[in-house]
Amino acid sequence: MNLHFQRFFFSLVEMIYDTERQTTEIIKRLKKEYPEAHCELIHSNPFELLVATILSAQCTDVRVNIVTANLFRKYRKPIDYLNVAPEELEQDIRPTGFFRNKAKSIRGASLKINENFGGEIPQTMEELLTLDGVARKTANVVLGNAFGIASGVVVDTHVSRVSQRLGLTEETTPEKIEKDLQELVPKKDWIMFPHWQIAHGRKICQARKPKCVECVLENLCPSSRLKMIAAE
Ligand code: SF4
Repeated sequence: MNLHFQRFFFSLVEMIYDTERQTTEIIKRLKKEYPEAHCELIHSNPFELLVATILSAQCTDVRVNIVTANLFRKYRKPIDYLNVAPEELEQDIRPTGFFRNKAKSIRGASLKINENFGGEIPQTMEELLTLDGVARKTANVVLGNAFGIASGVVVDTHVSRVSQRLGLTEETTPEKIEKDLQELVPKKDWIMFPHWQIAHGRKICQARKPKCVECVLENLCPSSRLKMIAAE
């Protein structure tokens, strides 16, 4: 190993070690700050969580919960979504936006759950990804929150933004961000880590105006506005 390579190698190891230590501290503080963090989509079984997660695309959890309060009284099993005309389901989920696509996904997923999985929600990533309207994020939400299976890390808009600001990733696509987080976050925290970050993103690290002055992660954060002001 020549000297230049040796230096490069050791600085790389040091950098990885620093980021891992920083992640451990971030997890510790977020866990303490948001002990009540949990999945905000109201559901009483895995199938309801799957439907609610499909509906949550481009829609707030609050609005989804308002819609599903009636929806889950009317539709209890996958077959119920197949026994109505597509237009009727579309009207029932209309307030969540993109209702035609979402209705198509819910009906397509319901059909496959009945035909290929005996009416039960599958419990592996590979199988869930065969369902209409289900990508990695939805599959991770269902596996983690309905079954307690840590198959990956949920990456939504809050998780992306907070992770980028904290320097946990430089990536911009959910798939690549998830890979970075899987390497940094211990597997035992994969399910809760997004809930803590989402709570932090909603309350403090908001998209337009992060409240860095109130942030428990401020001294760990390379994007802190306080640091930027101090450097001016
Ligand atoms: S210091 Fe500011 S930018 Fe960094 S995590 Fe906290 S609120 Fe977000």
